[in-house]
Amino acid sequence: MVELAKAGVSPSVSPVVPGARIEICEVGPRDGFQIEKRQIPTDDKIAVVNGLIDAGIKKIQVTSFVSPRAVPQLVDAEEVLSGIERGPDVTLTALVPNTRGAERAARTQVDIMGLFCSASETHSRKNVNASIDDTLQRFPPVVEIARAAGKRVQGGIATVFGCPFEGEVPTDSVVRIARFYRDLGIEDLNLGDTTGMATPKTVRAVLAALREAVPEMAVTLHFHNTRGIGLANVMVGLAEGVTRYDSSIGGLGGCPFAAGATGNICTEDLVYLLEESGYQTGVDLEKVIAVAQKTEAVIGRELPGQIMKAGSRLRRFDSDAVATAAG
Ligand code: ZN
Repeated sequence: MVELAKAGVSPSVSPVVPGARIEICEVGPRDGFQIEKRQIPTDDKIAVVNGLIDAGIKKIQVTSFVSPRAVPQLVDAEEVLSGIERGPDVTLTALVPNTRGAERAARTQVDIMGLFCSASETHSRKNVNASIDDTLQRFPPVVEIARAAGKRVQGGIATVFGCPFEGEVPTDSVVRIARFYRDLGIEDLNLGDTTGMATPKTVRAVLAALREAVPEMAVTLHFHNTRGIGLANVMVGLAEGVTRYDSSIGGLGGCPFAAGATGNICTEDLVYLLEESGYQTGVDLEKVIAVAQKTEAVIGRELPGQIMKAGSRLRRFDSDAVATAAG
C-alpha cells in the first residue's frame, strides 16, 4: 500500500472546503517557552495561556512533563496547569515521555497526554537517548496510566519530513510508528516537522502513505517555519483534507540546530491566512495579536510573527501622521 503512494498514485483525497472549521492547537507555551534560557515567571506563562483562551483558542499544549534537569524551563508544569482558567470547551494537552511524566500529568487538569517518538533513529537517540523501538516499548504502560485517569492520548511523531542528521526520513518509518499507535487504540496522530524540513511534496507523500496505512487516524500537522514555507505547507495540508494544525503565538520557538532560526508557524499569521481563505477558526485576530505582543514583552525579544506587526488587512492608518515623500 505504501508502494502505491511512492508510485504517485494518490488514494482519494477530499480537500477541506472554505466554510469548514479548522482546529488550531497553540503549542507556544511548550514548544516555544522550552527553548528560552531565562526562566519565565510562572504567572507570566499562566497569563499568556489565559489570554489565548480569551482570544478563542480552544486547544493549548501547555507544557511537558519531562525531567526538570532535561528542560529546566518547564519545571513549573503543575503550577502553570493549576492556574489556567478554562471553560468546558477548552482542551489542554501536555507531552509525557514516560510513566513518571504520565503519573504527574494524571494529577492535573490536562485532557490529552501527548506521546512522541522520532521517525529518525539518530534523532531519537540524540533527543531521548533511546532507539525508536525502545521508545515505543515505553508507551503501553503510559497509555494505561492515561486511560485509568480518564485522559485521552495523542501519538506524536518527530522528524516526519526530514532529519537534521540523516536527511530524508523513510516514509515507512513514519507509517510503522503510526501503526504502533493505532494498535494501542490511539486515534489522534501528530506529525512533527521538528526542524522545518517539510515541503509541499513531502507533505503530500506522507499524508498519502498514512491515508493508506491508517485511514482511521485523525492527523494534526505540526509545522515549523524554519525555512519560511510553513504556511504554504498548511495550504497543502488543507488540499489533502487535514483540518488540525499546531502553531505558536508570535511564531515563538526556534530550532536547536540552526541558531536564530524561527520557530513554529505563527498562530496569528495562521488565523489570518485561514480566515482570509474563508475558513472558520473561532479566534479573535485582534485579541490574539495582543497576546502575541504580551508574549514578546514576557520573553524580552522580538518575535517573528508578521501580522502582530502589520495588523489585519484593513487596518487604517492616519494619513496626516504619514510624511509625504519629497518630490
Ligand atoms: Zn515542534
